[in-house]
Amino acid sequence: MKIRTRFAPSPTGLLHIGNARAALFNYLYARHHGGEFLLRIEDTDRQRSTQHAVDVIFDGLKWMGLDWDEEPVFQSTRQDRHIEVVQALIEKGQAYRCYSTPEELAAMREKARAEKRPPRYDGTWRDRDPSEAPEGAPYAIRLKAPQTGETIIHDLVQGDVKVANAEMDDLILLRSDGTPTYLLAVVVDDHDMDITHVMRGDDHLTNTFRQAMIYRAMGWDLPQFAHLPLIHGPDGAKLSKRHGAQSVVEFRDEGILPEALCNYLLRLGWGHGDAEILSREEQIALFDLDGVGQSPSRMDYVKLAHINGVWMRRADDERLTNDVMTRLKKRDDVIINDEVRGRILALMAGLKERAKTLVELTDSAAFAGYKLPLTFTPKAEKILSSEGKEILKAIADKLAELSSFTPEDIDRVLRAFAEEKEIKLGAIAQPLRAAMTGTTTSPGIDLTLSALGKEEVLTRLRSVLEK
Ligand code: GLU
Repeated sequence: MKIRTRFAPSPTGLLHIGNARAALFNYLYARHHGGEFLLRIEDTDRQRSTQHAVDVIFDGLKWMGLDWDEEPVFQSTRQDRHIEVVQALIEKGQAYRCYSTPEELAAMREKARAEKRPPRYDGTWRDRDPSEAPEGAPYAIRLKAPQTGETIIHDLVQGDVKVANAEMDDLILLRSDGTPTYLLAVVVDDHDMDITHVMRGDDHLTNTFRQAMIYRAMGWDLPQFAHLPLIHGPDGAKLSKRHGAQSVVEFRDEGILPEALCNYLLRLGWGHGDAEILSREEQIALFDLDGVGQSPSRMDYVKLAHINGVWMRRADDERLTNDVMTRLKKRDDVIINDEVRGRILALMAGLKERAKTLVELTDSAAFAGYKLPLTFTPKAEKILSSEGKEILKAIADKLAELSSFTPEDIDRVLRAFAEEKEIKLGAIAQPLRAAMTGTTTSPGIDLTLSALGKEEVLTRLRSVLEK
């Protein structure tokens, strides 16, 4: 049997990390077993579904490197098939028309509440003769759910979970406006798409019991289910805005690399010994459902940043530079051109050692393209006192004489100058750094000057000295 998993998001405009993790697990499971990973857009809620929301899902999955097999299925295009299955259920005597009006249903719920019972449909039309139906009145179609016994799901993560059938009512398959319900559509689509494993958040567990009833009523085999624990906030409460980023787009904007997000989401709720940093190949080789825990995970933004730092150091300098340039374009204090790009690329090996996110990396690289005159932090300002300026003035003359401007050439000049003046190298590097960056941090001063290039270095020195 070929394993076929699917990711079935509702296009709501976000790709929540809980869903993104479900997508990752489905993807890894399929790839691990040489199976297929499919995508179904559950866009039956026409009011909420927009092309933008669909694009957010496509872009997010591509960004995470979760390539899917086959054309995506749009649930909204399958309505006729969903209705066909409802007809089949009626013919099998497994579904019936329910003429209860909204008022009657509200009264039913009210009565149940008063009697402290869960609000359930009372089965009024379940066994009533259709000839008693009010002429031309609208009706919904309900599943004739089993009323005795229990429904058991052999969940691959949660173990056996069961519910007494007496606790469930006859769910609606087709609304009175003729539209299929979500519970029905998911079952029909998973069946028709030959899905063998359904992995999704454990908030869907109650849906699964109901869906199992539809499978049984149709005489279809059930797929295997794996309900994944949810991701909570660091404090154990439901993950919300106040905790921090929640959607894939937000993490991307905050400068998290996709491989870091995937690595983190995988480790959050799945483990394989002590393995912490795992490449996609390793993830595929090792992933299985045995390693998925049963309790909710807590989002740890600090750990994510740490993992991101690891992936940043492994990332290609060209790629990081391109990302930084894209982010710098949004700022108005930075010049964007090939020269600036070249400077940042030259410094990237040093810059990426220190940054935990692409946002931090961008901030630390920005000085390479600053428009002059620079603005100075108070600390840098202090370093550029008259004494600092004296040093800069003398150094400027020495640097101006250099015909080659490699880090080694610069280092040689600075050392010779320190020796000559009997001062520490730091006493030269500090004012230089302040003059070049406006701050007190940068990669090695020789690298920094070399990357900026002789002309820019002298221009920035002049700008400070004339101040
Ligand atoms: N469309 C559902 C959701 O986004 C998922 C359904 C499923 O995975 O079965 O929550």
